[in-house]
Amino acid sequence: MKRALALLFAVLPGALAGVMAEVPSGVTAGVPSGVTTGVPSGVTAGVPPALADALDLPRESAVPGGVKILRLPGGTDTAPAVTVDGNRAMVLRDAEGWLAVVGIPLSAPTGPRDLVVREGGERRELSFPVGAKIYARQALTVAPSKVDLSARDLARVSAERLRIEHTLERFSDTAPQSLRFPAPVPGVRSSSFGMRRIFNGEARNPHTGMDIAAAQGTPVLSPIAGTVIDIGEFFFNGNTVFVDHGRGLISMYCHLSAIGVRPGQRVAAGARLGAVGMTGRATGPHLHFGLALNRVWVDPALFLPEAVSAPPPL
Ligand SMILES: [Zn+2]
Repeated sequence: MKRALALLFAVLPGALAGVMAEVPSGVTAGVPSGVTTGVPSGVTAGVPPALADALDLPRESAVPGGVKILRLPGGTDTAPAVTVDGNRAMVLRDAEGWLAVVGIPLSAPTGPRDLVVREGGERRELSFPVGAKIYARQALTVAPSKVDLSARDLARVSAERLRIEHTLERFSDTAPQSLRFPAPVPGVRSSSFGMRRIFNGEARNPHTGMDIAAAQGTPVLSPIAGTVIDIGEFFFNGNTVFVDHGRGLISMYCHLSAIGVRPGQRVAAGARLGAVGMTGRATGPHLHFGLALNRVWVDPALFLPEAVSAPPPL
């Protein structure tokens, strides 16, 4: 049934994506419980479930921080090129034709969102509606030096932001093995993706990934095959590994106690990338797992098995 993602993609890069990973562990207050966040699970529209299963597509959720799956008109043998906000988007093929798998930025306004589809010499515009989603607020307390940055740290952080954005520009032609995969570490996931964070009383960037609680030293495994594109020690994210899985799907693993791979290294599904830690701006050991599509951070929960109960009382 499942064809190993017979993807054929095409497309071009563009903008950016916020980053900054942090962590909720041990801290926090203020999360009005039961206040949304996370993913309207299993929300699907546009693509019949059977088709989605056949292609191992992520769950669709057309909201800020979500993923939209669009059937593209036309049925030629050549993949159409799709761009959104000037960024190349993932395009894949199924038995009926072409699909675009589009990441929606957390900053996207509610309302129509435009895509440009180029095929042969033709240029067409499509749009799809982005629904509203209110993400909860999360108050965190961390060392003051991780919130009120010195000029030196600010310079470092802005250089690192560029470096991360640059990493997300990567668009390789190899198809991802699958768009459904296991979590990189077992453990309870906090549904904190998209939360608007208040650090020591000051508003900061929203949380752009998923935090998974795990003990220090727990192996972090690549959920699908890919190529390591960057590793480093970042101010907020601590020891971090970036993996390119193909066609604009980039994963990020932060706060590692140790990194076990090097740039350029090919990794198989299940390969050890490093170990869970609490380097950078973290309040306790956990993995911050980020996933980007067309250069925007999307909710990793859409790609993982629907799992694990409620958010932990971190
Ligand atoms: Zn995080």
